[in-house]
Amino acid sequence: MALIVQKYGGTSMGSPERIKNVAKRVARWKAQGHQIVVVVSAMSGETNRLIGLAREIQATPDPRELDVMVSTGEQVTIALLAMALKSIGVDAKSYTGAQVRILTDSSHTKARILDIEEKNMRADLDAGKVIIVAGFQGVDENGAITTLGRGGSDTTGVALAAALKADECQIYTDVDGVYTTDPRIVPEAKKLEQITFEEMLEMASLGSKVLQIRSVEFAGKYKVKLRVLSSFEEEGKETNGTLITLEEDSTMEQPIISGIAFNRDEAKLTVLGVPDKPGIAYQILGPISEANIDVDMIIQNVGHDGTTDFSFTVNRGEYARAKKILEDSVQKHVGARNVIGDEKICKVSAVGVGMRSHPGIASQMFRTLAEEGINIQMISTSEIKISVVVDEKYLELAVRVLHKSFGLDQ
Ligand code: ADP
Ligand code: ASP
Ligand code: MG
Repeated sequence: MALIVQKYGGTSMGSPERIKNVAKRVARWKAQGHQIVVVVSAMSGETNRLIGLAREIQATPDPRELDVMVSTGEQVTIALLAMALKSIGVDAKSYTGAQVRILTDSSHTKARILDIEEKNMRADLDAGKVIIVAGFQGVDENGAITTLGRGGSDTTGVALAAALKADECQIYTDVDGVYTTDPRIVPEAKKLEQITFEEMLEMASLGSKVLQIRSVEFAGKYKVKLRVLSSFEEEGKETNGTLITLEEDSTMEQPIISGIAFNRDEAKLTVLGVPDKPGIAYQILGPISEANIDVDMIIQNVGHDGTTDFSFTVNRGEYARAKKILEDSVQKHVGARNVIGDEKICKVSAVGVGMRSHPGIASQMFRTLAEEGINIQMISTSEIKISVVVDEKYLELAVRVLHKSFGLDQ
């Protein structure tokens, strides 16, 4: 008998029919003698609908009240799934985040999990019940409802698996595993049998939203066995999905590049003609970080005529605020010539642990883009990834040609 955490995403929970199918799958696993904890998302589109409603009332909705509201999406699906299970004779019980007591900090809309109380769930599991927990939500020490950021049900799933020391955490979604790139953009993308935590973490943080970044971090930290699978495969025809492995465990030879990730949520800001002297980077980025805006890629050009240009990227949602800060602080007080920006950019990245031992990957990437006439605006690298910023209109082309160039379609 194993303890298994299964997380079902929005599409899998998207209609009463689909919820009944999820119930059947859960019932099959239960019938094999396993203890099952299910984590669910809101029905697909529901979280967006709720956020839209809030914005009709307040342009920037109050974060505390927004959490009170968006967390209701998952409160609906836990109850529906519990009903679906009971109606086919499986004893089940729903839990909101607060009822479990998934304790988080108080950063509304992007809270972090601090602790999970397991005793209530454990008692119900031992009594033979299937536990159904609302994903994406928690509660802070004052009892306020919090949420974990978009896609946060993945993190609830992995965190519960860690807290309960589950044998496996299964993430059921609308694709049958992690692919070499988003199959919606490149139909030739191939499913990976396995991918290392390190690579998955890079893929997720570079834009592959199949798993929320924090869920991968959590799984790596607590050594949770994590698998991505489809909730749409018929009984008897289920495949094994993709296993996220610790590198040591993997027996297969690693490909050089495992995947291509992309992100259209970024925007670029450039400060032109800043005096080229010590402290400039700090003077530019200090006010940005004080405003709690995350900065991603940074480049500073070689100075000439005593001045230099400085560019960086931020989340597109923070673009206007970041630009205003630069205009108010840097232009006025540091003496920059101008602040310009570009919201129509995207970041495309190649990820692979094999890069460590194979030189020439960067030049292959740059050559491939050059052959298509795609101009590279910024570059950043780490041991296992190379990212470039290009014009947003080239996103699909860049992903497709890189996918092909690195042989990922074979
Ligand atoms: P859920 O609602 O189940 O959480 P998501 O929409 O969050 O599902 O994640 C699944 C989607 O992630 C897929 O439909 C796919 O389009 C997208 N995706 C992006 N990159 C990848 C990738 N490398 N492999 C698989 N799916 C990916
Ligand atoms: N319902 C939330 C969202 O849409 C959380 C999740 O689905 O993981 O972001
Ligand atoms: Mg998701």
